[in-house]
Amino acid sequence: MKIPDSLKRYGLAKVFDYLDKDPMNNMGKVMELVNKFAGDTLDRQRAAFDRVIKDEDSCWHQLIEKVWTQTDPDVLKTVFNNFFVNANLVGWPKQEKMREKYGCNIPWAILLDPTSACNLHCTGCWAAEYGNKLNLTFDEIDSIITQGKEMGVYMYIYTGGEPLVRKKDLIALCEKHSDCQFLSFTNATLIDEAFANEMLRVKNFIPAISVEGFESATDGRRGNGTYQKVIQAMAILKEKHLPFGLSCCYTSQNLDSISSYEFIDQMIQWGARFVWYFHYMPVGNDAVPELLPNPEQREFMYHRIREIRATKPIFAMDFQNDAEYVGGCIAGGRRYLHPATVRFLRSGRLTPRQQETFDWPRLRGYTYGNLMRVLESPQEQCVVCQKGEYGWDGWAGTYMEIHPEEKVCALIMTAQIDRENDCARRMLRNGIYRWVL
Ligand code: SF4
Repeated sequence: MKIPDSLKRYGLAKVFDYLDKDPMNNMGKVMELVNKFAGDTLDRQRAAFDRVIKDEDSCWHQLIEKVWTQTDPDVLKTVFNNFFVNANLVGWPKQEKMREKYGCNIPWAILLDPTSACNLHCTGCWAAEYGNKLNLTFDEIDSIITQGKEMGVYMYIYTGGEPLVRKKDLIALCEKHSDCQFLSFTNATLIDEAFANEMLRVKNFIPAISVEGFESATDGRRGNGTYQKVIQAMAILKEKHLPFGLSCCYTSQNLDSISSYEFIDQMIQWGARFVWYFHYMPVGNDAVPELLPNPEQREFMYHRIREIRATKPIFAMDFQNDAEYVGGCIAGGRRYLHPATVRFLRSGRLTPRQQETFDWPRLRGYTYGNLMRVLESPQEQCVVCQKGEYGWDGWAGTYMEIHPEEKVCALIMTAQIDRENDCARRMLRNGIYRWVL
């Protein structure tokens, strides 16, 4: 039986009230009810949640207990409704329907930059290059959110620039879209008593505060005095029982300190409920490639993030190393190409006359679809591949191919001047396929 959204919301609001009376004891019973409503939505995540609420020694159990008992009750109720109910239980099925209807991806969350302006000038940040030139107007952001909700999207994430340069607009948007959850990456230097009071009033705004490690690391990249301002902002939020998290960019220079247990314990003490790690990406003319973590450092971080999650009462995520938990890259590569789009790209479009004159020896056996080279007669090619392989080649030899039958993708990057001689690439391809398939 399909349960209307209004009834889901009403039922879950009652559940929240029940839960609030004795959170940790009643949570198991609540999950049983949620599982009934949710069908197969987020089933893996719910199963994991079921396990931790039964285990009192688990760091996750402790984290949930903290969130429930140390967050402002009205804010907690709003986050429960907006994030848990709207963005997931109500929003997800609606998104699925829209994906089917429009034949394209509908995101779970929409990430947008209200402005490229920032009040800081951190080393290696692209924001300084754009300055305050790029801004979305209030109406544009409002329109994005309004359209998003029609498609079932209730989660909005601000990046920048520094989003809080527009703090009045952001609060007004929280107020106008009180059924959505907003999360903002921020350097936190603009969070003061007055803004925290506004957060308490609207209840649906959560900051993810950037820190680079302890004082010398943070000030070294973000400027003198930044660390103390950030500490001050977190103290205000903690005192008002407002939820917040941290955003940590790890570089070749700060990795050891930012991933140390000493620093993790400090984050917990500050009152952060989650930490989101990213590794430094050099972007723009003033980027500093030396800050990129090396392969050993990245591997270390892959394991460290899992240790933190298993032992500390803070929800730690790594944007680059946790793709397996969100079904692959959330930015691209997933649901970007609907099967109908792929069919369109691969459908042969050459007329019989064009096909007849399509006579490049290295593409014998191929035809062209809408943009993609598609293999029709493998027997005409001296390569190991099956009918239906498709892809694209760049002029200097960069070559992308997808083998739907074997579920293999390959990207071969070359800068080859003599394109007529494809022998080396074919040998490489054949070698790889014989090994992989
Ligand atoms: S605070 Fe963020 S946006 Fe601003 S300069 Fe630093 S890294 Fe860039």
